[in-house]
Amino acid sequence: MLIDTHVHLLGHRDRPATAANIRLFLAEAARRGLGLIGFSDHEEYLADMRPDLIRAVAREYPELRVLVGVEMEFRPGEEERIRAALGRYDFDFSIGSVHELAGRALDLTPAEAGALGLAPDELYRRYFDCVAQAAASGFFTVLGHIDLVKIFGVRSEAPVEELAAPALDAAASSGVAIELNTNGSAKPVGEWYPSPPLLAAAARRGIPMTTGSDAHEAGRVGREIREASAALRALNVRRAEKFL
Ligand SMILES: [Zn+2]
Ligand SMILES: [Zn+2]
Repeated sequence: MLIDTHVHLLGHRDRPATAANIRLFLAEAARRGLGLIGFSDHEEYLADMRPDLIRAVAREYPELRVLVGVEMEFRPGEEERIRAALGRYDFDFSIGSVHELAGRALDLTPAEAGALGLAPDELYRRYFDCVAQAAASGFFTVLGHIDLVKIFGVRSEAPVEELAAPALDAAASSGVAIELNTNGSAKPVGEWYPSPPLLAAAARRGIPMTTGSDAHEAGRVGREIREASAALRALNVRRAEKFL
């Protein structure tokens, strides 16, 4: 079954959660042959989310399993904020993501991450340390795009699977899933998250996985999900039970 568990109905506050907009996303999911779509809007827009409306509109698409989740920013020490946000609605799942380090957004401009003044290996180490803490926190169903740090093409010198080992080990022992997020192919780095060596290292550890497009508009729902699913099958990856 084709699964897309990373979809932003609201985009970056590009549109409201109306029935008409929800239908655009669900129609695209059905057109692409998905069996499951999981909405996961950014936590900043909690007040604009309409989980009940999504579930009501979903009844018009009986061929689709529709879940409602949220994509949370993981920052160490902000457990209370995370707990409160996750308790706001009856979410089916949550994605824990790291988009920033020391208050600097990693995915806006190369200069933002550059301002941290870290050599690539240290940048990666710090990033994966944060992902490891997200994994160990126990809050999340899925860890989002676990090597987002590469988005603008900065690569580590040390093998990435060594730098990421603490994060992968934490994921393996906590039982959290990770996602194969296809959105990286549209970014300067030009490849999915995680990169092939990390994906193989995750597979070796038996970490369960899901697939996500990170669509911020209806037309991108399910993008490259068929290819991502085939990649997971080729590695004999266990699928995250929550979405089976
Ligand atoms: Zn994200
Ligand atoms: Zn996202």
